Amino acid sequence: MQVKIDVNSGFCFGVVNAIQAAEDYLKNHDKLYCLGDIVHNNMEVNRLSKLGLVIIDHEQFQKLNNVDVLIRAHGEPPQTYRTALDNKINLLDASCPVVLRLQNNIRKGHQEINKVGGQVVIYGKQGHAEVVGLAGQTAEKAIVISDENDLSKIDLSKPIELYSQTTKSIEGFNSLVKNIENNKDSDTAFNINDTICRQVSHRAPQLREFSTLHDIIIFVSGKKSSNGKYLHSICKETNNRTHFVSSPDELEKKWFKKGDSIGICGATSTPRWLMDETKIFIEKIQV
Ligand code: SF4
Repeated sequence: MQVKIDVNSGFCFGVVNAIQAAEDYLKNHDKLYCLGDIVHNNMEVNRLSKLGLVIIDHEQFQKLNNVDVLIRAHGEPPQTYRTALDNKINLLDASCPVVLRLQNNIRKGHQEINKVGGQVVIYGKQGHAEVVGLAGQTAEKAIVISDENDLSKIDLSKPIELYSQTTKSIEGFNSLVKNIENNKDSDTAFNINDTICRQVSHRAPQLREFSTLHDIIIFVSGKKSSNGKYLHSICKETNNRTHFVSSPDELEKKWFKKGDSIGICGATSTPRWLMDETKIFIEKIQV
């Protein structure tokens, strides 16, 4: 069997920066708090935990004082920065620059649209950490919609300023835009901001292509990663011998046939070392 790892799979630069910041800090310290999972991949979180990274939630964060806390690539709402000031917490801010720019744009967009009685709409997953940070720029006034079923949350007679969570699919965004255009009042102002991160959206066509080049695809990703779910579905659509695994021990011998060409790929939260380990594991399987 021949096994190849997709060169385009693995961490996006936002995640690389956050992990680098944690590793650099832990070279000289025993422990670093991180607000939320640094990446949606348990295997990578476990590796960093062994180096001293301690994942905390917002409730635990509020009880801390005089410590250093890492902010992950997803970014945080303004309230987190206020709590840090109050509790003398030093933030190591590894928010992705793309997310920070989007937060700024949403804050300004909200101020402007407010003047004309309009609304900010964010296409994203309710409760997702990045979306919480984005909605926080509008004092939680933004309307978060995950698909067409949520359209009723928007007042289609008032101006609309639309943004997207960076990791949503372009197809979903375009279909939502069409839906709003078809349903809104004809004179309602509608401003479309396509804020999907190209680090993610470019992966879909690349993975479609990669999936056609191999008999079988092993997609490696954490089960919590929304980007992982989306990219896995792209591979599965193209190659029905696609299997999702979170770690090499989930591989099943019965999936493989003698002479198969095997492609390994993953999400923007999948570490390269995990895809390397998966490759080694597959190469040891006797079929
Ligand atoms: S997907 Fe894009 S916006 Fe999100 S962390 Fe990665 S580089 Fe930044």
